[in-house]
Amino acid sequence: MLPAARAEIVVDLAAIRHNVRVLREVAGVPVMTVVKADGYGHGMVPVARAAREAGAEWLGVATLDEALELRASGDTGRILCWLYVPGEEYDAGVAAGLDLTAYTPAELDEIEESVGDTGRTALVQLKIDTGLSRGGASPASWPALVERAREGERAGHWKVTGIWSHFSSSDEPDDPANDAQEASFRWALTVAEAAGLRPEVRHLANSAATLLRPSSRFDLVRCGIASYGLDPAPGETSGVDLWPAMTARASLALVKDVEPGDAVSYGRTWIAETPTTIGLVPVGYGDGVPRRSGNHAEVLVGDRRRPVRGRVCMDQLLVDLEGEEHRPGEDVELFGDGHDGGPTAQDWAEASDTISYEIVTRIGSGRMPRRYVDSETDPGAPA
Ligand SMILES: *Cc1c(COP(=O)(O)O)cnc(C)c1O
Repeated sequence: MLPAARAEIVVDLAAIRHNVRVLREVAGVPVMTVVKADGYGHGMVPVARAAREAGAEWLGVATLDEALELRASGDTGRILCWLYVPGEEYDAGVAAGLDLTAYTPAELDEIEESVGDTGRTALVQLKIDTGLSRGGASPASWPALVERAREGERAGHWKVTGIWSHFSSSDEPDDPANDAQEASFRWALTVAEAAGLRPEVRHLANSAATLLRPSSRFDLVRCGIASYGLDPAPGETSGVDLWPAMTARASLALVKDVEPGDAVSYGRTWIAETPTTIGLVPVGYGDGVPRRSGNHAEVLVGDRRRPVRGRVCMDQLLVDLEGEEHRPGEDVELFGDGHDGGPTAQDWAEASDTISYEIVTRIGSGRMPRRYVDSETDPGAPA
């Protein structure tokens, strides 16, 4: 057997499949699995494959590069992307049969040029900004975008396949902004329909809205975080059986005794009051572990949670083994599915004043290698 890795991320693809199936069942409409940012740190291509196996009708990514990488990996299904800058390689996107989101008539002009270059009909989706003030046409500029889209559709340049928007506060279901955004979206659909557009999919819901706001499901839901088994609205969702797919673990590098008065890590922010044992865990903010979690987070060593002491360094962090016998080489779980009593990505989010999205995405884009397991086909897999 290979020696245990210094530190690694273990991703259970069966958990991804399970979550996608659960979301499809809850939603009752087709699902877009959002795999941007390298699949929220889980690995875009393996996650996309698992999602397709579980029936995801669509994949969603932010950038054209991400969408083209999915095509290059062999994915032939529907893929939507939504974030560009002027001069982007629309040709490649049109040629690859991607669904391209347009926010402005200027973007449609660029897509029209690509249609001329490639000789293919583009697939275009229009986005209305219903209150996030991020991408999308403002309500004031919506009718003009719709007109331009209808004109290009009549000319045979593209097919308008979808109309969509995005919530600002769906993780706070009682926020009146949700009602206002949904009303604004319905108005945008009416305008588009009156102009003669007949989009195949109208979509508004992300993970939280999929679970908490049935009226927002329309023809398709876009699920990111819940596909990875993390709760999009902690404290608000219940009874949905999601399995966290990512475990972050390391091997204990060193164990040493410290005396009362000894300070631990940079800045001496934690000082031992009693004799104790400190364990050196060989991961730090260079691996995506939030520096802010110092003195707040916990890890699992053996069968007990142990507190992180002092500041998190670039490559290392220190935990208090509280006098227990542990040896270098023993397993340290930073977070996992929580079933073994260990912390979850949500616990790390709370210890670091952030959200679980950032925990998994940053750890997954750091230095730790990823290893894939499948607890369905190989139940004995060491996850
Ligand atoms: C990231 C993203 C999603 C997925 O959101 P979750 O909260 O992770 O489900 C959906 N739609 C858009 C436009 C996004 O940018």
